[in-house]
Amino acid sequence: MQIARHTVASIEYTLTDDDGNVIDSSAGGAPLTYVHGLGALIPGLESQLEGKRKGDALAVRIAPGDAYGERDEQMVARVPRSQMPKGAPLELGMQLEARGPDGGQIVTIVKLEDDAVWLDANHPLAGVHLNFKVSVVEVRAATAEEIEHGHVHGPGGHHH
Ligand code: ZN
Repeated sequence: MQIARHTVASIEYTLTDDDGNVIDSSAGGAPLTYVHGLGALIPGLESQLEGKRKGDALAVRIAPGDAYGERDEQMVARVPRSQMPKGAPLELGMQLEARGPDGGQIVTIVKLEDDAVWLDANHPLAGVHLNFKVSVVEVRAATAEEIEHGHVHGPGGHHH
């Protein structure tokens, strides 16, 4: 069976940046199992997996536009320390959840000043080219319930 819309694919993967740093990997854990065609993965990776079969391996480099988007410098803001949560340790590179009108948003501390911190609301992988090495472990048809729920049931997925 080939990977197509409404199949469930299990993949092993390693994700690196252009400098070879490992960003994420399924090594040492269970394969990633997802319903194909519902936007579970970044668009650039789903499109490359389309038509692949169990046992296939691929290496792809995905531009930011097909991954987590380009960086938007408008999403970096200077916030007075007086507006930060009291007592929270503030360190460079730390990620915080900011509450906004659209719910929680992850921001990263990118600069510290005596009386202010700079918060970056870009996705940490925005602007980054992603290099995936993927092997397809299994492909099966999704059940009607999985398609309706938009996620996988059973091994590697939801149990409910
Ligand atoms: Zn479900």
